[in-house]
Amino acid sequence: MPAYKAPLRDMKFLLNDVFDYPRHYQTLASGENATPDIMDAILTECGRFCEEVLSPLYQSGDEEGCHLSEGDVVTPKGYKEAYQQYVMGGWQGLSAPEAFGGQGLPASMGLLKQEMMGTANWSFSMYPGLSLGAMNTIYLHGDEQQKQTYLVPLTEGRWGGTMCLTEPQCGTDLGQVKTRAEPRADGSYSLTGTKIFISSGEHDLTENIVHIVLARLPDAPKGTRGISLFIVPKFLPGNDGAVGERNAVTCGALEKKMGIKASATCVMNFDGATGYLIGPENQGLECMFTFMNTARIGTAIQGVGPAELSYQWALDYAKERRSMRALSGKKEPDQVADSLIHHADVRRMLLTQKAIAEGGRAMLYYAAKLADHMVEAHSDGDTEKAEKYDDKLGFLTPILKGFLTELGCEATNLGMQVFGGHGYIREHGMEQIVRDTRIATLYEGTTGIQALDLLGRKVLLTTQGGAVRDFTLKVANFARKHLTSKPLRPMAVELLKLTAQWNLLTVRVMLAARKDRDVVSAAANDFLMYSGYVTMAYMWLRQAAVASDKQENGGDESDAFYRTKLATAEFYYERLLPRAQAHATSMLSPTRNLMQVNGEDMAFTD
Ligand SMILES: Cc1cc2nc3c(=O)[nH]c(=O)nc-3n(C[C@H](O)[C@H](O)[C@H](O)COP(=O)(O)OP(=O)(O)OC[C@H]3O[C@@H](n4cnc5c(N)ncnc54)[C@H](O)[C@@H]3O)c2cc1C
Repeated sequence: MPAYKAPLRDMKFLLNDVFDYPRHYQTLASGENATPDIMDAILTECGRFCEEVLSPLYQSGDEEGCHLSEGDVVTPKGYKEAYQQYVMGGWQGLSAPEAFGGQGLPASMGLLKQEMMGTANWSFSMYPGLSLGAMNTIYLHGDEQQKQTYLVPLTEGRWGGTMCLTEPQCGTDLGQVKTRAEPRADGSYSLTGTKIFISSGEHDLTENIVHIVLARLPDAPKGTRGISLFIVPKFLPGNDGAVGERNAVTCGALEKKMGIKASATCVMNFDGATGYLIGPENQGLECMFTFMNTARIGTAIQGVGPAELSYQWALDYAKERRSMRALSGKKEPDQVADSLIHHADVRRMLLTQKAIAEGGRAMLYYAAKLADHMVEAHSDGDTEKAEKYDDKLGFLTPILKGFLTELGCEATNLGMQVFGGHGYIREHGMEQIVRDTRIATLYEGTTGIQALDLLGRKVLLTTQGGAVRDFTLKVANFARKHLTSKPLRPMAVELLKLTAQWNLLTVRVMLAARKDRDVVSAAANDFLMYSGYVTMAYMWLRQAAVASDKQENGGDESDAFYRTKLATAEFYYERLLPRAQAHATSMLSPTRNLMQVNGEDMAFTD
């Protein structure tokens, strides 16, 4: 099976040339230490760790999976050692506050690390990834004692964390949560209930696991307004911070699932477990969602990373495997047949993967700059600024999470297709990437829920189209600047048209929704995908503009690099972007075609 290679050239092109991260970091207090040298060293070292330590465990972890033995979960061979190396390298605290043992680097540095780790081995990256969610929650909503007790070991990676939301009857609709929290005389709570699908709920990588749990207090209002948030540690910490007595929270079962088999997905039973309230009573959901944008961008990586991995392997294969002759004449006359890469249809598949991986990466890095500003404003206590960036990020997050994970599935399927029947055979690893990626459109809010969040909440309800107007203004201004450039003009013209169309579509959907409430749900997916294609088009024009400039004036990369960037941008505009028009048409079609069929008549069985 091939191995992962960190795409450092592409990453550096985006970071240094397209988005000018070195200057961006100079504007941040946390960026003081993120000098170009440090950035370079971190990228190189993280790339090495991912290539040499995590990538070799990718397939073996899938084969072996996790095992439950008398309540303990055993992770696959090599995971413990790899996790120890991760801890020793100080990777968990890369972007965590220095006050709690972190390195205090900007949030975006953590995202780069997550991208590489997640691409090399998504299952492994889930363990530290979930801990980050717990760390953020405690950092934002915990009291001083809770921060002191939990944040240092979590930041060091000695302890792990989870997010326990889902229950058998509800995943999306958390207003139905039933887990109960009864107050005790000593100020703690007794939690009783069952959570399912809990990633990293139980495992052998850390000495303690800190569960962040949604539960209901007695007499709490019904629905989402009656949910509170609790810290429930696997082992209760003593006053000295060391792990103490075992808490009544146990793993009842491991889910048997399609992919990410080395990531433990647990049924967690809380049997009068000791928990501590975090944040105000009945405001658990608000607390949980404070950093949801950053968590969801983390999941959006799962669209980009697997697209990259699958592309790397498919490209190697397409260069080696031979089949028939290219239609335009023999390309390798000395060989028995031409290699796959000479066939236009195989190129279509490879370039689609490449355009998704590199276009998606650009979307992530664009958003990560906003996340840096938001996190910094939060830690400075500048609520107004934090909200401003949270709003900008809030508009992009569902697009990133929904669109990129959907396209990630497409890209990994194409990678498998390039391998032909061999793609279906486990040995080559392509089917594993397909299986592993599939979950990304489901957890952290399904694509349907991202689409509703985007259209229903961010675009229509809270801003009456303002979010689209603000973003498209920026995009249109950029496109206008490139109308006179010969290589960029066709793309700039197309992008400009799309910015106008995006606003028009928003208004039309808004008007239709006033007459028919089902319109929002009916149009949401098409609106999300349309928004994704246009946002990615913006990212491709940005890359093309830099590549064109560097071609003329010289840059750190080779001419071939810039030429290929321009060619990929052209490919994206001419072959993938036209899909936006299908979504535009579909989103405006009447709800009648969805709602007129009776549920009982949908199947023609007995
Ligand atoms: C491998 C794995 C790991 C996970 N890790 C965690 C974890 O660590 N912690 C955790 O708490 N949970 C976790 N989950 C749970 C996951 O977040 C949920 O499965 C997900 O949120 C969807 O919820 P559900 O499965 O209940 O689907 P449902 O909510 O039942 O949704 C079913 C379908 O209906 C659609 N739908 C639902 N409501 C609406 C609506 N109002 N309008 C339109 N469409 C709607 C959805 O989009 C979806 O297509 C994990 C799940 C898996 C499989």
